[in-house]
Amino acid sequence: MLVGMYGGTFDPVHVGHIHAALSVQKALQLQQVRLVLAARPGHRGEPDSTAVHRWQMLCLACAEHETLVPDDVELKRAGKSYTIDTVAQLRKTNPAAIPCWIMGQDAFATLPTWYRWQSLLSWCNLIVVARPGDERPEPPEVAALCKKHEVATLHSDKIGQIARLDLPMLQVSATQIRRLVAAGEPVEHLLADPVYTYIRQHRLYVKSENTI
Ligand code: ATP
Repeated sequence: MLVGMYGGTFDPVHVGHIHAALSVQKALQLQQVRLVLAARPGHRGEPDSTAVHRWQMLCLACAEHETLVPDDVELKRAGKSYTIDTVAQLRKTNPAAIPCWIMGQDAFATLPTWYRWQSLLSWCNLIVVARPGDERPEPPEVAALCKKHEVATLHSDKIGQIARLDLPMLQVSATQIRRLVAAGEPVEHLLADPVYTYIRQHRLYVKSENTI
């Protein structure tokens, strides 16, 4: 069974993430998409807000959608949050599950910086969606990987496939939201209502006397 997994720092989770997760879930007819919080991201700096705040916001956003499930596997595991460990863990506990790791084109272009990236396709499939506003050229290593593993249609009983889904995505990023909040600009339209309320309540991303 294909299991959708969508990893992110989610600092904060925004409408672009939710739209991407729901669109892939529908397009591939997945039972659910698990949104995996990168508690201690391995390939980027320290997030602005704590893992506990990011987890609370992820739970609030997912609670609005039956098919989206927040996943704290990387929160519970000690050490850095590496995708390969997460997909391998799922395969070992549930050999029938075929993890489909969903990512934006921007993240896909950084794949060669990921821990043990060359072994990743031994444990899962990669599902790549567009990232409007952050179109990065693919490095030659990624192009070579695609040549070997890219498929037009995903087989539901195989691992080791890369599939690009041509689905419309929203141009929004967590960086943009953090900047807007810090500048006292409106962000309500970029977040699920309970996430917006949570950010206000906990005064996340506020750098000065500005409020959102
Ligand atoms: P930041 O701006 O802090 O880097 P982000 O908005 O890119 O955050 P992440 O949590 O870093 O969000 O991203 C998690 C995953 O979601 C990545 O695979 C990223 O490519 C993807 N993603 C983020 N925003 C979008 C979007 N608007 N549309 C499609 N994919 C997205």
